[in-house]
Amino acid sequence: AKEDGRNNYKFYTENMNKRALERLEMENNLRKALEKKELFIVYQPRINLKTSRLVGAEALLRWKQPTLGLVSPVEFIPVAEETGLIHPIGKWILYSACKQAKKWYDNGYSDFKVSVNISAVQFQKEGLVDIVREVLLETQLTPRMLELEITENTIMQNTERTVETIQELKEMGIEISIDDFGTGFSSLSYIKEFDSDNLKIDKSFIRDIGLSASNESIICAIISMAHSLGMSIIAEGVETIEQLEFLEDSDCDEVQGYLFSKPVSPEEFTALLHNRTIP
Ligand code: C2E
Ligand code: CA
Ligand code: CA
Ligand code: CA
Repeated sequence: AKEDGRNNYKFYTENMNKRALERLEMENNLRKALEKKELFIVYQPRINLKTSRLVGAEALLRWKQPTLGLVSPVEFIPVAEETGLIHPIGKWILYSACKQAKKWYDNGYSDFKVSVNISAVQFQKEGLVDIVREVLLETQLTPRMLELEITENTIMQNTERTVETIQELKEMGIEISIDDFGTGFSSLSYIKEFDSDNLKIDKSFIRDIGLSASNESIICAIISMAHSLGMSIIAEGVETIEQLEFLEDSDCDEVQGYLFSKPVSPEEFTALLHNRTIP
């Protein structure tokens, strides 16, 4: 038995070393990813439920690593955050998404928004407002076409500065969404302090539509309370007609998910914009 324990221990440390090594390798690869042009952005449509029109695009980061293939942002964003690489990468995403939005604007698609995810680490660092201002100036994008998504967990840190930063961003004319709402432990009365424009209900709630009645009443309550606080509601991860119908009946404002489209390349998105309504 003792022997066994030792072997387990050996296995455990070997496993740990392997993981540490993989992480270090990812860090080194990620360091070069920007200049090697391995990073790119895909866009997922957002649809207004009342009009069935395409009203927005969420910019989502992708990394095509030569040996590993596509690496999920769920895996590499945390590494980027820990190493500080999120700052140059985040600025690049913001710049690229704004430049793309300006292209769409110049082609006559001016009544929709591009939303960009801002990580907690990026948000807490001094100077975000200046970076956003600089990017808008450089790309000549009208601020009302930009929206920033900040997670519920981000706004639960450093409350006072967060309120200030959001206020400054809103004064520039850009919109703010609280992302992944419902995964943290904040309340809507707490959220209200941040004066955000939109609330994105986390996809874990959407997934359980039709499966859990209590989950459904939570969604309804979130929607009606958000409305009474003057916020619009976006449901993410909508995959089925049943989910869509429930959200329509519950007076949800916008939806996003595989039912309409997966995230697509800028070229494919332009084609969607051309058709404008999604069945
Ligand atoms: P998120 O911001 O909550 O993004 C939504 C995720 O749901 C995306 O995953 C999207 O592809 C996926 N999704 C869209 N429709 C559906 C659906 O119908 N069903 C399901 N199951 N999933 C759907 P993705 O692109 O893998 O991104 C995962 C997370 O990585 C994002 O979650 C966000 O937290 C982070 N991320 C992605 N791009 C960026 C970025 O540019 N900057 C930062 N800071 N984080 C990013
Ligand atoms: Ca998001
Ligand atoms: Ca989300
Ligand atoms: Ca609004």
